Amino acid sequence: MSEETFAFCLNCGAHDMPLFHGLCPSCYQESLPENKLSFSKKIMICTTCGALHLPSIGWTRPLTYKEFLLELDTTARALVPTPPTAIVESEQIDEIDLTLSKPEVTVTLIIKDQPLPEFPVLEEKATVKFVIEKGICETCSNIKNRVHNAILQLRADRRRVSEAEEDLAVEIIKSLLKQTVSEAHASYLLDIVEVRGGLDFLFSDRYLANLAAQAIIHKFGGSKKETFKLVGEEKDGTKKYKSTIVVRIPLLRTGDWIILENDPFLVIKHDRLGVIVRKKGVGKAKRFEWNVVKEATPINSQILQIPVQVIAKLDDSFLVMDSRSYETFEISLKDMPFETEVGMNITLGEFEGKRFFYSFESQ
Ligand SMILES: [Zn+2]
Ligand SMILES: [Zn+2]
Repeated sequence: MSEETFAFCLNCGAHDMPLFHGLCPSCYQESLPENKLSFSKKIMICTTCGALHLPSIGWTRPLTYKEFLLELDTTARALVPTPPTAIVESEQIDEIDLTLSKPEVTVTLIIKDQPLPEFPVLEEKATVKFVIEKGICETCSNIKNRVHNAILQLRADRRRVSEAEEDLAVEIIKSLLKQTVSEAHASYLLDIVEVRGGLDFLFSDRYLANLAAQAIIHKFGGSKKETFKLVGEEKDGTKKYKSTIVVRIPLLRTGDWIILENDPFLVIKHDRLGVIVRKKGVGKAKRFEWNVVKEATPINSQILQIPVQVIAKLDDSFLVMDSRSYETFEISLKDMPFETEVGMNITLGEFEGKRFFYSFESQ
Protein backbone atom coordinates (compact mmCIF):
# COMPACT_ATOMS: atom_id res chain seq x y z
CA MET A 1 0.00 0.00 0.00
CA SER A 2 1.24 3.49 -0.84
CA GLU A 3 2.46 5.65 2.01
CA GLU A 4 0.45 8.46 0.48
CA THR A 5 -2.74 6.68 1.58
CA PHE A 6 -2.81 8.51 4.92
CA ALA A 7 -1.99 11.91 3.52
CA PHE A 8 -4.36 14.56 2.20
CA CYS A 9 -5.48 15.03 -1.39
CA LEU A 10 -3.44 17.93 -2.75
CA ASN A 11 -6.48 19.26 -4.55
CA CYS A 12 -9.51 18.84 -2.27
CA GLY A 13 -7.86 18.00 1.06
CA ALA A 14 -9.78 14.75 1.45
CA HIS A 15 -8.06 12.16 3.59
CA ASP A 16 -8.52 8.46 4.35
CA MET A 17 -8.48 8.11 0.60
CA PRO A 18 -6.06 6.31 -1.71
CA LEU A 19 -3.94 8.90 -3.47
CA PHE A 20 -2.11 8.75 -6.79
CA HIS A 21 0.47 11.47 -7.33
CA GLY A 22 -1.16 13.20 -4.39
CA LEU A 23 -4.68 13.13 -5.80
CA CYS A 24 -7.80 11.31 -4.65
CA PRO A 25 -9.67 9.24 -7.29
CA SER A 26 -12.14 11.95 -8.26
CA CYS A 27 -9.50 14.70 -8.39
CA TYR A 28 -7.27 12.36 -10.41
CA GLN A 29 -10.05 11.83 -12.92
CA GLU A 30 -10.59 15.59 -13.19
CA SER A 31 -6.86 16.17 -13.65
CA LEU A 32 -6.80 14.05 -16.80
CA PRO A 33 -6.67 16.12 -19.98
CA GLU A 34 -10.10 16.96 -21.28
CA ASN A 35 -9.90 14.82 -24.40
CA LYS A 36 -11.88 15.27 -27.46
CA LEU A 37 -12.38 11.54 -27.61
CA SER A 38 -14.26 11.38 -30.83
CA PHE A 39 -12.78 12.96 -33.91
CA SER A 40 -12.12 12.35 -37.53
CA LYS A 41 -8.86 12.30 -39.44
CA LYS A 42 -8.08 12.37 -43.13
CA ILE A 43 -5.57 9.82 -44.30
CA MET A 44 -4.28 9.25 -47.82
CA ILE A 45 -3.72 5.91 -49.49
CA CYS A 46 -1.81 5.34 -52.73
CA THR A 47 -4.22 3.55 -55.03
CA THR A 48 -1.34 2.22 -57.12
CA CYS A 49 0.69 0.43 -54.46
CA GLY A 50 -1.26 0.59 -51.19
CA ALA A 51 1.18 2.85 -49.32
CA LEU A 52 -0.33 5.08 -46.63
CA HIS A 53 0.53 8.67 -45.91
CA LEU A 54 0.95 8.91 -42.15
CA PRO A 55 1.01 12.19 -40.23
CA SER A 56 4.32 11.43 -38.53
CA ILE A 57 6.43 9.61 -41.13
CA GLY A 58 4.98 10.43 -44.53
CA TRP A 59 4.55 7.64 -47.08
CA THR A 60 4.94 4.09 -45.87
CA ARG A 61 5.99 1.20 -48.08
CA PRO A 62 3.14 -0.63 -49.88
CA LEU A 63 0.89 -2.27 -47.30
CA THR A 64 -1.27 -5.36 -47.39
CA TYR A 65 -4.87 -4.97 -46.19
CA LYS A 66 -3.97 -6.51 -42.83
CA GLU A 67 -0.96 -4.20 -42.39
CA PHE A 68 -3.18 -1.29 -43.40
CA LEU A 69 -5.67 -2.07 -40.59
CA LEU A 70 -2.81 -2.41 -38.13
CA GLU A 71 -1.42 0.95 -39.25
CA LEU A 72 -4.83 2.60 -38.71
CA ASP A 73 -4.94 1.17 -35.19
CA THR A 74 -1.41 2.38 -34.41
CA THR A 75 -2.21 5.83 -35.80
CA ALA A 76 -5.43 6.04 -33.76
CA ARG A 77 -3.55 5.12 -30.58
CA ALA A 78 -0.96 7.81 -31.31
CA LEU A 79 -3.64 10.43 -31.87
CA VAL A 80 -5.65 9.80 -28.69
CA PRO A 81 -3.93 11.18 -25.58
CA THR A 82 -4.11 8.67 -22.73
CA PRO A 83 -2.69 8.68 -19.21
CA PRO A 84 0.58 6.74 -19.03
CA THR A 85 -0.96 4.22 -16.65
CA ALA A 86 -3.85 3.41 -19.00
CA ILE A 87 -4.39 0.17 -20.88
CA VAL A 88 -5.77 0.73 -24.36
CA GLU A 89 -7.76 -1.94 -26.16
CA SER A 90 -9.05 -1.76 -29.71
CA GLU A 91 -12.38 -2.97 -30.95
CA GLN A 92 -12.38 -4.95 -34.16
CA ILE A 93 -12.24 -2.67 -37.19
CA ASP A 94 -15.10 -3.06 -39.67
CA GLU A 95 -14.42 -4.27 -43.19
CA ILE A 96 -13.42 -1.33 -45.41
CA ASP A 97 -14.67 -1.07 -48.95
CA LEU A 98 -11.70 0.57 -50.67
CA THR A 99 -13.54 0.70 -53.98
CA LEU A 100 -15.72 3.54 -52.66
CA SER A 101 -14.60 6.99 -53.67
CA LYS A 102 -14.10 8.14 -50.07
CA PRO A 103 -14.15 5.13 -47.78
CA GLU A 104 -14.53 5.78 -44.07
CA VAL A 105 -13.64 3.60 -41.16
CA THR A 106 -13.92 4.12 -37.42
CA VAL A 107 -11.36 2.80 -34.99
CA THR A 108 -12.74 2.44 -31.47
CA LEU A 109 -10.36 2.40 -28.53
CA ILE A 110 -11.33 1.41 -24.98
CA ILE A 111 -9.14 3.23 -22.49
CA LYS A 112 -9.01 1.66 -19.03
CA ASP A 113 -7.12 3.44 -16.28
CA GLN A 114 -6.57 2.25 -12.75
CA PRO A 115 -3.36 3.84 -11.47
CA LEU A 116 -3.64 2.09 -8.10
CA PRO A 117 -5.52 -1.05 -7.05
CA GLU A 118 -7.46 1.08 -4.54
CA PHE A 119 -8.72 3.34 -7.34
CA PRO A 120 -11.85 2.52 -9.28
CA VAL A 121 -11.27 1.59 -12.92
CA LEU A 122 -11.88 4.62 -15.10
CA GLU A 123 -13.07 3.57 -18.49
CA GLU A 124 -13.52 5.71 -21.57
CA LYS A 125 -14.21 5.11 -25.20
CA ALA A 126 -12.45 7.02 -27.97
CA THR A 127 -13.32 6.85 -31.62
CA VAL A 128 -11.23 8.00 -34.55
CA LYS A 129 -13.03 8.16 -37.84
CA PHE A 130 -10.58 7.86 -40.70
CA VAL A 131 -11.67 9.42 -43.95
CA ILE A 132 -9.56 7.70 -46.56
CA GLU A 133 -8.51 9.84 -49.49
CA LYS A 134 -7.11 8.32 -52.64
CA GLY A 135 -3.89 9.58 -54.09
CA ILE A 136 -0.55 8.55 -55.52
CA CYS A 137 2.60 8.17 -53.46
CA GLU A 138 5.91 9.78 -54.37
CA THR A 139 7.43 6.55 -55.65
CA CYS A 140 4.46 5.64 -57.84
CA SER A 141 4.41 9.18 -59.17
CA ASN A 142 8.14 9.00 -59.97
CA ILE A 143 7.64 5.69 -61.75
CA LYS A 144 4.75 7.16 -63.69
CA ASN A 145 6.95 10.08 -64.75
CA ARG A 146 9.75 7.63 -65.61
CA VAL A 147 12.16 9.29 -63.16
CA HIS A 148 15.48 7.44 -63.05
CA ASN A 149 18.63 8.88 -61.54
CA ALA A 150 21.00 6.06 -62.39
CA ILE A 151 21.62 3.89 -65.44
CA LEU A 152 23.51 0.65 -65.23
CA GLN A 153 24.95 -0.25 -68.62
CA LEU A 154 25.75 -3.93 -68.92
CA ARG A 155 28.46 -4.38 -71.53
CA ALA A 156 31.17 -6.91 -72.35
CA ASP A 157 34.83 -6.51 -73.18
CA ARG A 158 35.33 -6.47 -77.02
CA ARG A 159 32.07 -8.31 -77.73
CA ARG A 160 28.32 -8.10 -77.26
CA VAL A 161 26.78 -9.44 -74.06
CA SER A 162 25.26 -12.82 -74.92
CA GLU A 163 21.57 -13.56 -74.47
CA ALA A 164 22.33 -16.15 -71.78
CA GLU A 165 24.42 -13.58 -69.89
CA GLU A 166 21.64 -11.01 -70.22
CA ASP A 167 19.08 -13.47 -68.85
CA LEU A 168 21.34 -14.30 -65.93
CA ALA A 169 22.00 -10.61 -65.18
CA VAL A 170 18.26 -9.88 -65.18
CA GLU A 171 17.68 -12.80 -62.83
CA ILE A 172 20.44 -11.59 -60.48
CA ILE A 173 19.02 -8.07 -60.39
CA LYS A 174 15.44 -9.24 -59.87
CA SER A 175 16.43 -11.33 -56.88
CA LEU A 176 18.41 -8.38 -55.51
CA LEU A 177 15.32 -6.17 -55.86
CA LYS A 178 13.24 -8.69 -53.94
CA GLN A 179 15.62 -8.38 -51.01
CA THR A 180 16.12 -4.62 -50.98
CA VAL A 181 13.09 -2.86 -52.40
CA SER A 182 10.56 -4.09 -49.85
CA GLU A 183 12.50 -2.19 -47.21
CA ALA A 184 13.23 0.96 -49.17
CA HIS A 185 10.09 1.57 -51.18
CA ALA A 186 11.63 4.64 -52.81
CA SER A 187 14.02 2.43 -54.81
CA TYR A 188 12.94 0.73 -58.00
CA LEU A 189 14.02 -0.65 -61.34
CA LEU A 190 12.12 1.42 -63.87
CA ASP A 191 12.97 -0.37 -67.06
CA ILE A 192 15.38 -2.61 -68.93
CA VAL A 193 16.33 -1.41 -72.41
CA GLU A 194 18.00 -3.53 -75.13
CA VAL A 195 20.86 -1.63 -76.74
CA ARG A 196 23.55 -2.59 -79.25
CA GLY A 197 26.19 -3.83 -76.82
CA GLY A 198 23.98 -5.27 -74.10
CA LEU A 199 21.33 -4.00 -71.70
CA ASP A 200 20.63 -0.71 -69.94
CA PHE A 201 18.94 -0.94 -66.54
CA LEU A 202 17.18 2.26 -65.47
CA PHE A 203 17.20 2.63 -61.67
CA SER A 204 15.62 5.11 -59.29
CA ASP A 205 18.93 5.85 -57.59
CA ARG A 206 22.63 5.18 -57.76
CA TYR A 207 22.67 3.28 -54.49
CA LEU A 208 20.50 0.52 -55.95
CA ALA A 209 22.32 0.69 -59.30
CA ASN A 210 25.66 0.17 -57.54
CA LEU A 211 24.30 -2.79 -55.57
CA ALA A 212 23.16 -4.31 -58.85
CA ALA A 213 26.57 -3.64 -60.45
CA GLN A 214 28.31 -5.37 -57.55
CA ALA A 215 26.01 -8.39 -57.81
CA ILE A 216 26.75 -8.72 -61.53
CA ILE A 217 30.51 -8.39 -61.06
CA HIS A 218 30.36 -10.95 -58.27
CA LYS A 219 28.89 -13.43 -60.73
CA PHE A 220 30.71 -12.58 -63.97
CA GLY A 221 33.86 -10.76 -62.95
CA GLY A 222 34.62 -7.55 -64.83
CA SER A 223 34.93 -3.91 -63.96
CA LYS A 224 32.74 -0.99 -63.01
CA LYS A 225 33.04 2.67 -63.87
CA GLU A 226 30.69 5.38 -62.65
CA THR A 227 30.33 8.83 -64.15
CA PHE A 228 28.07 11.70 -63.18
CA LYS A 229 26.23 14.27 -65.19
CA LEU A 230 24.76 17.46 -63.77
CA VAL A 231 21.09 17.49 -64.71
CA GLY A 232 19.70 20.39 -62.70
CA GLU A 233 19.06 21.80 -59.28
CA GLU A 234 16.63 21.02 -56.50
CA LYS A 235 14.40 23.82 -55.19
CA ASP A 236 16.84 24.35 -52.30
CA GLY A 237 19.79 24.75 -54.66
CA THR A 238 21.38 21.31 -54.24
CA LYS A 239 22.76 20.11 -57.53
CA LYS A 240 21.12 17.08 -59.10
CA TYR A 241 23.26 14.49 -60.80
CA LYS A 242 22.44 11.52 -62.94
CA SER A 243 24.77 8.58 -62.57
CA THR A 244 25.87 6.21 -65.31
CA ILE A 245 27.55 2.99 -64.27
CA VAL A 246 29.19 0.90 -66.95
CA VAL A 247 29.75 -2.70 -65.95
CA ARG A 248 32.02 -4.42 -68.42
CA ILE A 249 32.08 -8.17 -68.07
CA PRO A 250 35.14 -10.07 -69.34
CA LEU A 251 35.66 -11.19 -72.89
CA LEU A 252 36.13 -14.81 -71.85
CA ARG A 253 33.20 -17.06 -71.07
CA THR A 254 32.73 -20.63 -69.96
CA GLY A 255 33.08 -22.78 -73.08
CA ASP A 256 35.72 -20.56 -74.70
CA TRP A 257 38.98 -22.03 -75.97
CA ILE A 258 42.11 -20.00 -75.27
CA ILE A 259 45.85 -20.42 -75.72
CA LEU A 260 47.76 -20.37 -72.45
CA GLU A 261 51.47 -21.22 -72.25
CA ASN A 262 51.24 -22.29 -75.93
CA ASP A 263 48.54 -24.89 -75.28
CA PRO A 264 44.83 -24.81 -76.06
CA PHE A 265 42.68 -24.77 -72.94
CA LEU A 266 38.93 -24.83 -72.45
CA VAL A 267 37.39 -22.38 -69.97
CA ILE A 268 35.23 -24.57 -67.72
CA LYS A 269 34.21 -21.94 -65.19
CA HIS A 270 34.57 -18.23 -64.64
CA ASP A 271 33.80 -15.99 -61.70
CA ARG A 272 34.76 -12.63 -60.25
CA LEU A 273 38.34 -13.77 -59.54
CA GLY A 274 39.27 -15.36 -62.82
CA VAL A 275 38.83 -18.47 -64.93
CA ILE A 276 39.25 -22.19 -64.36
CA VAL A 277 40.59 -23.93 -67.46
CA ARG A 278 41.65 -27.42 -68.42
CA LYS A 279 42.99 -29.22 -71.43
CA LYS A 280 39.82 -30.85 -72.58
CA GLY A 281 39.52 -34.45 -71.49
CA VAL A 282 42.98 -34.54 -69.92
CA GLY A 283 44.99 -32.90 -67.17
CA LYS A 284 44.02 -31.08 -64.05
CA ALA A 285 41.93 -27.95 -63.98
CA LYS A 286 43.95 -24.78 -63.43
CA ARG A 287 42.85 -21.41 -62.10
CA PHE A 288 44.08 -18.19 -63.69
CA GLU A 289 43.29 -14.75 -62.36
CA TRP A 290 41.71 -12.18 -64.61
CA ASN A 291 44.87 -10.10 -64.90
CA VAL A 292 46.71 -13.15 -66.29
CA VAL A 293 44.10 -13.96 -68.94
CA LYS A 294 43.20 -10.34 -69.68
CA GLU A 295 44.78 -10.45 -73.13
CA ALA A 296 43.63 -13.97 -73.99
CA THR A 297 41.31 -14.03 -76.99
CA PRO A 298 38.95 -16.93 -77.63
CA ILE A 299 40.04 -19.06 -80.58
CA ASN A 300 36.73 -20.96 -80.81
CA SER A 301 36.02 -20.00 -84.39
CA GLN A 302 39.60 -20.60 -85.53
CA ILE A 303 39.80 -24.19 -84.36
CA LEU A 304 39.78 -26.59 -87.27
CA GLN A 305 37.70 -29.64 -86.37
CA ILE A 306 39.05 -32.95 -87.64
CA PRO A 307 36.83 -36.03 -87.45
CA VAL A 308 38.99 -39.08 -86.87
CA GLN A 309 38.69 -42.75 -86.13
CA VAL A 310 40.97 -44.36 -83.53
CA ILE A 311 42.51 -47.29 -85.36
CA ALA A 312 45.22 -48.59 -83.00
CA LYS A 313 46.75 -48.13 -79.58
CA LEU A 314 50.56 -48.05 -79.74
CA ASP A 315 53.11 -47.87 -76.89
CA ASP A 316 52.65 -44.21 -76.04
CA SER A 317 50.23 -43.00 -78.68
CA PHE A 318 47.01 -43.65 -80.54
CA LEU A 319 47.04 -44.08 -84.28
CA VAL A 320 44.12 -42.19 -85.74
CA MET A 321 42.78 -41.71 -89.24
CA ASP A 322 41.30 -38.51 -90.62
CA SER A 323 37.79 -39.61 -91.70
CA ARG A 324 37.81 -37.23 -94.67
CA SER A 325 41.33 -37.40 -96.07
CA TYR A 326 42.15 -40.94 -94.77
CA GLU A 327 45.50 -39.55 -93.68
CA THR A 328 46.75 -41.32 -90.54
CA PHE A 329 48.79 -39.78 -87.75
CA GLU A 330 49.71 -40.42 -84.11
CA ILE A 331 48.50 -38.53 -81.12
CA SER A 332 50.16 -38.98 -77.74
CA LEU A 333 48.28 -41.07 -75.11
CA LYS A 334 48.74 -38.34 -72.55
CA ASP A 335 46.91 -35.89 -74.81
CA MET A 336 43.83 -38.12 -75.06
CA PRO A 337 41.11 -38.83 -72.49
CA PHE A 338 41.33 -42.01 -70.47
CA GLU A 339 38.10 -43.34 -72.02
CA THR A 340 39.50 -43.35 -75.57
CA GLU A 341 39.19 -46.75 -77.22
CA VAL A 342 40.14 -48.22 -80.55
CA GLY A 343 37.25 -47.99 -83.03
CA MET A 344 35.86 -44.74 -81.64
CA ASN A 345 34.90 -41.89 -83.94
CA ILE A 346 35.91 -38.65 -82.25
CA THR A 347 36.73 -35.09 -83.14
CA LEU A 348 40.15 -33.53 -82.76
CA GLY A 349 40.87 -29.84 -82.87
CA GLU A 350 43.70 -28.16 -84.69
CA PHE A 351 45.06 -24.71 -84.04
CA GLU A 352 48.32 -23.38 -85.45
CA GLY A 353 49.54 -26.89 -86.26
CA LYS A 354 48.78 -28.25 -82.81
CA ARG A 355 46.31 -31.13 -82.62
CA PHE A 356 44.35 -31.86 -79.47
CA PHE A 357 41.28 -33.68 -78.17
CA TYR A 358 38.17 -31.64 -78.96
CA SER A 359 35.09 -33.84 -78.45
CA PHE A 360 33.85 -37.40 -78.23
CA GLU A 361 31.13 -36.46 -80.65
CA SER A 362 32.04 -37.23 -84.22
CA GLN A 363 31.11 -34.65 -86.82
ZN1 LIG B 1 -9.37 15.24 -4.04
ZN1 LIG C 1 2.40 4.10 -54.46
